Amino acid sequence: MTDFTDLGLSPKVLRAVTEAGYVKPTPIQEGAIPPALEGKDVLGIAQTGTGKTASFTLPMICKLARGRARARMPRSLVLCPTRELAAQVAENFDTYSKHVKLTKALLIGGVSFKEQDALIDKGVDVLIATPGRLLDHFERGKLLLTGIEIMVVDEADRMLDMGFIPDIERIFSLTPFTRQTLFFSATMAPEIERITNTFLSAPARIEVARQATASETIEQGVVMFKASRRDRLATEKRAVLRAVIEAEGEKCTNAIIFCNRKVDVDIVAKSLKKHGFHAEAIHGDLDQSQRTRTLDAFRDKSLRFLVASDVAARGLDIPSVSHVFNYDVPSHSEDYVHRIGRTGRAGRDGKAVMICAPSDEKNLAAIEKLIDKEIPRIENPVKAAPAPEPVKEEADAAPKPSRSRSSSSSSSSRGRSKSDQGGGGRSRGRDEKVVGMGDHMPQFIAMSFEERRAS
Ligand code: AMP
Repeated sequence: MTDFTDLGLSPKVLRAVTEAGYVKPTPIQEGAIPPALEGKDVLGIAQTGTGKTASFTLPMICKLARGRARARMPRSLVLCPTRELAAQVAENFDTYSKHVKLTKALLIGGVSFKEQDALIDKGVDVLIATPGRLLDHFERGKLLLTGIEIMVVDEADRMLDMGFIPDIERIFSLTPFTRQTLFFSATMAPEIERITNTFLSAPARIEVARQATASETIEQGVVMFKASRRDRLATEKRAVLRAVIEAEGEKCTNAIIFCNRKVDVDIVAKSLKKHGFHAEAIHGDLDQSQRTRTLDAFRDKSLRFLVASDVAARGLDIPSVSHVFNYDVPSHSEDYVHRIGRTGRAGRDGKAVMICAPSDEKNLAAIEKLIDKEIPRIENPVKAAPAPEPVKEEADAAPKPSRSRSSSSSSSSRGRSKSDQGGGGRSRGRDEKVVGMGDHMPQFIAMSFEERRAS
């Protein structure tokens, strides 16, 4: 296997890579870095989690280290579909370029134009942007793209999903045709193929195995769940989610919980919080500062559970997520691969558990077809929990008349009440009380009013 030292990277970049703790290049790095350093166009077919960010940032840093930026004319451009991904690429640049003097600017929504304008005015080597924001700056006459030497398009398939392809084509046409293009996509949809045929010139094509097949370190499972009544579906599904999380115990150090709809992201996060789980929501409707705060907390492990929608989580670079829980079966099978790719990254172990209601079975079948394997069925932990013991036995087992409800639920790691654990808990609680009184009636209750007064 190749070492980083065989790829042709500069000593300063190699030093930063070693300091980042990387020992061996990943397959996409091994394939993309040498042609990128030679100045060739690169077409990388790879997903997040394969190390693709370093596969374009490392050669860019080496190449940009020679030369200087001019005012308002950035020398390189990285286009990302979401602000989170753009922010992460920027972080990667900081990590890998710490021994090289390069300037960069981040053009993303939610950050003031003024600050970004000031940076661009001074001249930047690397401009990292979302397409819409970049074009806003361009149209305001603050930016020239005629000095672009290297252009990167990251997660092109997401750009396609989000309707950014016309913007990308426009941006391509604003940059010099002599530029070097590094283009990354997880899949090659016909529209993406068309773009690459138009804008890339004799690219080195590097395809790395799909996430789902590559990440054999991810243990997968699905819980088939059917609500007892239709109007209880949401409540019972949340109880199943809690039980699924709890079943993982200490092994679950941190997790992303995916929901298909933004509204569910909020509801699930609130419900988990109510039940004592340390969870926060992240989706596109939250303001940037809130999203950044939540993400930072999740990254530094002060937040354990991140409840997310697909768009918000796209490209999040969180190095060690132990678990992914799919509260919903994604309706696009590709999203399943993206979601579970958040765990088991860069060779680490990970586990992905999904909840599947009967109406989701068609989507589950589509996912299994895509990944070409059956996802093992896991028993519903709510059903598998010991059934409430017969009323009489429960009374017989009670050692003292004063047995409290909280001691009866002490098996829960968070000391939650039984009613927290899903449907039916509350009525069971009432039964216990009545029976407890029947068999273990404290003596004072049996006394007459007069006797009590006297005692
Ligand atoms: P990416 O696919 O770029 O999102 O990278 C996924 C994760 O792998 C990131 O957390 C990187 O820091 C990490 N990573 C990238 N390259 C390597 C490598 N050669 N060895 C170990 N980890 C890496």
